This record gives sequence, C-alpha cells and structure tokens, in this order.
Amino acid sequence: MDSKFKLIVDSFGKERFKFDEPLKGYTACSLGGPARLFFIAFTQTELIKIIKIARQLEIPYFLFGTGTKIAISDAGFEGLVIKNRTKNIQTLSVKGKVTKYGIGVDEALIEVDSGVSLNKWIEYLDSQGLESAKFAGIPGSIGGNMFLNKFLQSSVKSIKVLDSRSEAKVVNVDILSPKRHIILSGVFRVKAKII
Ligand SMILES: Cc1cc2nc3c(=O)[nH]c(=O)nc-3n(C[C@H](O)[C@H](O)[C@H](O)COP(=O)(O)OP(=O)(O)OC[C@H]3O[C@@H](n4cnc5c(N)ncnc54)[C@H](O)[C@@H]3O)c2cc1C
Repeated sequence: MDSKFKLIVDSFGKERFKFDEPLKGYTACSLGGPARLFFIAFTQTELIKIIKIARQLEIPYFLFGTGTKIAISDAGFEGLVIKNRTKNIQTLSVKGKVTKYGIGVDEALIEVDSGVSLNKWIEYLDSQGLESAKFAGIPGSIGGNMFLNKFLQSSVKSIKVLDSRSEAKVVNVDILSPKRHIILSGVFRVKAKII
C-alpha cells in the first residue's frame, strides 16, 4: 500500500476499509470493477472526516449514495470510493395545537442525512404520522437526488453541505453546485397526514 493510502487507512483503522473491493455489488446496473480503497460512512462526522483527509492527501475519491445513477468501468477506480450510508433523521421542531385530546402536530421540521434513501425517508414520515405520499416513487438517496430532482429541490428548506474548502455550512438550493458541494443533509418542513 502506498504511503497516502496508509495514512488514510490509519486515520480510521484498517477494519473500516475494504481493499480492491468489486463495485458491481453496489450499483443498480451491477457493473463495475474494483475500488482500490472502499469505505462506508455511517455518520456525517465520518463523511466529513474521510473527504477532508482524501482532499488533504490528494487521493482521488468518489462518493455515491444508493448507486442507481452510476456506472463504473470494468477497470474500477484507482482511488477511494465512499459509500454514503449516513442515516440520521431528527425532528428539529414541531408546530401544533394542544386540545383536550393531547398535542396535535400540524407540521414538523425534520433534518435528514444525505445517505438516507427516499424509501427510508417515507417509512420514517409514515411512522410519525406525517405526509409522505409526495416523496413516493423517487429512487435513490436524499443526497443523490438533491442536484437533480426538481420536486425535492422545491420541498427542501435548507441544505447542509461540505464546500470545496471542506467547511460544513447551510445553503439555499439556488446556490447548490455539484462541482462545489457535497450534500450532508436536508431540512424539510412536512405537514401532518390528513386522516
Ligand atoms: C426507475 C428509475 C427512474 C429514474 N429516473 C430518473 C430521472 O428521471 N432522472 C434522473 O436524473 N435520474 C433518474 N434515475 C436515476 C437515479 O435514481 C436518480 O438520479 C437518483 O437521484 C440517484 O440517487 P442515488 O443515491 O442512487 O445516487 P448515486 O447513483 O449513488 O449517485 C449519483 C450521483 O450523485 C452523486 N452523489 C450521490 N450522493 C451525493 C452527495 N451526498 N453529495 C454530492 N453528490 C452525491 C454521485 O457522486 C453521483 O455522481 C432513475 C432511476 C431509476 C431506478
């Protein structure tokens, strides 16, 4: 292993990496040769850290979500491939009314990590009694969709990104750029399901 790869492996521990990992198992089209180094980020902190280190060491890297829009050549990727499996979903605030039956939620402000698939996002909204139908039928992850999906772009209130200087910050969708930003999470205002 060359010295740059060794440094990045040492920063998380060898057990967190796979070496020469075939990528075909991670893409929807089931194609793709091996990644020299493969890492799964489970939290935003891990995602930020691995990208910062790769940039500092000038290791070529590639980030993906659920892999429904990527095609990797049989030659594979001679660098670091990062699978985004960040999965946190947290309710930031709720609006509602107190009635004799308890607190009725009208809408909630929710932050969802970029690695969460739209399917998991819908499951979460359903579990909270929130409106999910408008998110149905969108394949892929929150992060993979944020640059592309007009509906998601129009629904998101703010987006947390890692910028090209490796600073995490909150931006509006109108300045979002795939060249400058890694999506970390999105904040959505979601209404209660009408029953
Ligand atoms: C049935 C079906 C219909 C589809 N219809 C469309 C369509 O109409 N239009 C369309 O464009 N696509 C479509 N797709 C492709 C794909 O599902 C979407 O583009 C989706 O947004 C990809 O999400 P993903 O998480 O799988 O992204 P991936 O395939 O994992 O990645 C796609 C790209 O997004 C980048 N990316 C992923 N996560 C992040 C992140 N957190 N920050 C920065 N960049 C990131 C990756 O680097 C890569 O360049 C369709 C797919 C299916 C299966």
